[in-house]
Amino acid sequence: MAPAGSIHVESSTQRVPLGDGVPDYITRVHGRKWPAQLAQLCSESAGKLARGQVEVPGDWNSGDIYLCEGTLAAVEGVVGAVTEGVDTVFRAGGSGRCFVSIRPPGHHCHPCAPSGFCLINNVHVAIQYAAQTHGLTHAVILDFDLHHGDGSQDIAFRLAGLTDDEDAPADGPGIGYFSLHDINSFPTEPGYASAEMIQNASACFMAHGLCVWNVHLQHYETPAEYDALYATKYSVLLAKAREYLQRAKAEAAKAGKPYKAAVFLSAGFDASEHEDAGMQRHGVHLPTAFYAQFTSDAVDLAADLADGRVLSLVEGGYSDAALFTGVFSHLRGLHQLPYDPAWAAPDVVKILEKGCKPTWTIPKYVQQTLAGAAVSGTVSASSTPKGKLQITDANRWAFRAITAGRGLWPQQPATSTSPDSDTSTPLAGRMVLRDRRTPVPKAESPGPGVASPSPVSTPTPRNPMDALTRDMNGLGVHDRRSP
Ligand SMILES: [Zn+2]
Repeated sequence: MAPAGSIHVESSTQRVPLGDGVPDYITRVHGRKWPAQLAQLCSESAGKLARGQVEVPGDWNSGDIYLCEGTLAAVEGVVGAVTEGVDTVFRAGGSGRCFVSIRPPGHHCHPCAPSGFCLINNVHVAIQYAAQTHGLTHAVILDFDLHHGDGSQDIAFRLAGLTDDEDAPADGPGIGYFSLHDINSFPTEPGYASAEMIQNASACFMAHGLCVWNVHLQHYETPAEYDALYATKYSVLLAKAREYLQRAKAEAAKAGKPYKAAVFLSAGFDASEHEDAGMQRHGVHLPTAFYAQFTSDAVDLAADLADGRVLSLVEGGYSDAALFTGVFSHLRGLHQLPYDPAWAAPDVVKILEKGCKPTWTIPKYVQQTLAGAAVSGTVSASSTPKGKLQITDANRWAFRAITAGRGLWPQQPATSTSPDSDTSTPLAGRMVLRDRRTPVPKAESPGPGVASPSPVSTPTPRNPMDALTRDMNGLGVHDRRSP
């Protein structure tokens, strides 16, 4: 088991087929027709595009959804990574917590219709896989994203037998869906949304074998106003999820049936205070600290009612600033480590955004200063060249986070473990984007205590978060799970 406070990083190379051989845990969510249609459309897309045709059917939103041959590899790779994440969460002796960094997202995808960049509903596939493979009996989906997970809610109705879909399986795990979102953003944007969409995104009930709870994001002006919103409105989702699992556990005990639950996070970061203005045009957002707070509370819920199992899957989030700050806040929450709001201050975010550029390297004077600090335990401002950025504790965290974040970049696998992978085509596998990246210049050798940024062509430390965690502890925060 990894030491407390460390994060083990793995790159998934698994692919799960959507065409021939599509597994039952996908067809339980989407039926047989949809995965096969998606696979066929992807395979036909190159020819259509070459002929100047639109590669998606006329009744799709062609402005949102694009297909190419690589799309199939991406989606099949996402399902592979999701199933590996489930296995990790259920592995005996592990932490029970796993964050799966994937694209495309899934929570808008309906049983047989794509929407909002989503082609397969990843979280529902994860739940069905967990039920089939690990005996999961109950799942709660906590969906925090700027947008309502209309597809996830729709599928929850279908799997509960509350639709007229006769092909829907009737023997799956119990599912509760809990969403925090903006009621004025997609798919309930004013002028676009139907009355049914608005009602769906506002529904709250626990009945007919299903629990659905929707909470709308609100404006706030001050930290105190936000704290009040969290305490009185946003945390209601966690209370209702707790109530749902408590009831399920009691009913299972009464009926002499097994109870084995897990908490699934549909983790979106597009409601972040640092998301682009276009996405934030309705003016409701969340402070970055929300992601640590809500995630830590979800971990508490899982500890009490799901043997600590938490699987987090990425949904929305589009600007580098929103994704970087949000994901790191989320990871702190997943570890139940304190989060310092100074780590998302505007000056720090500017540094983090630079760190997202593959060709940018940490300045030499910063490396030398941090190396000195690692030896002496203090940061000396006198070592900062005139006119250059002062290295404060928060900035120091940013440089450590950049080092760790680069360790999360996907790597080119040496060999594929998937029999369906075809490494002869540049579109196969999940590493196409890396191949297109400009090579990262070799960083100067850092001094002791400073991890080197990880050029994509060299092996990445398997635990790149260790340095970050140590540095955070050096800033005066501690893993509360530690003695
Ligand atoms: Zn979103």
